[in-house]
Amino acid sequence: MKTNKILVATQNRNKFREIVKLNTIDKLEFLYKKNLIDIVEDGNNFFENAYKKAYETAKYYRMVSMADDSGLVVDALNGAPGIYSARYAGKEKNDKKNNTKLLRKLKNKLNRKARFKAIIVLARPDGKYWKAEGVCEGYITTEPKGENGFGYDPIFKIDRFNKTMAQLSLEEKNLISHRGKSIRKMLDKIDQNFTEIFKGGINE
Ligand code: IMP
Repeated sequence: MKTNKILVATQNRNKFREIVKLNTIDKLEFLYKKNLIDIVEDGNNFFENAYKKAYETAKYYRMVSMADDSGLVVDALNGAPGIYSARYAGKEKNDKKNNTKLLRKLKNKLNRKARFKAIIVLARPDGKYWKAEGVCEGYITTEPKGENGFGYDPIFKIDRFNKTMAQLSLEEKNLISHRGKSIRKMLDKIDQNFTEIFKGGINE
């Protein structure tokens, strides 16, 4: 069967596998590429970063491409760390240091409400795009718990489970996570806009 292809602009194999696992569109295939072109994430918000990654990749490889950007938004810190989530405690992107810094910033703060956000953008080489967003509401604990996941998972608690994200299995996390939600929404959009996305015979 002929399939249309979408290049996923990520070097993170886990993100890529998650997308492939959730895809139920038969005539659609996702591609992973090693050593993608380097793109500076200098946008002012999640959308700008995701769009830049998707569009620059689409233009360079002349393929429909998809990229995401995500992070943690904390109410008591006016939305920080936000787009700086990965490098909150310094350029080296250290999860443990990021968690320690966040707990320090929230010390004695009563309002611990926070949410993970993920934005996915699909772009054609001519710049036309589709976007989908996923949000996961929760709050920041006072100490890390759990061994699974990555990033802020050990200090992010979801009311529904009374567990941190790091205490959930990967399957449980994907059902409720910002990223899982945004991927499912994007797959629906791809299904609904298939002809328009691949207009002109690109990626066949
Ligand atoms: P990126 O969008 O993969 O670059 O993620 C940005 C940063 O946001 C990560 O390095 C983490 O610090 C944080 N983050 C995004 N998604 C999650 C998640 O599901 N759990 C924990 N931290 C996350």
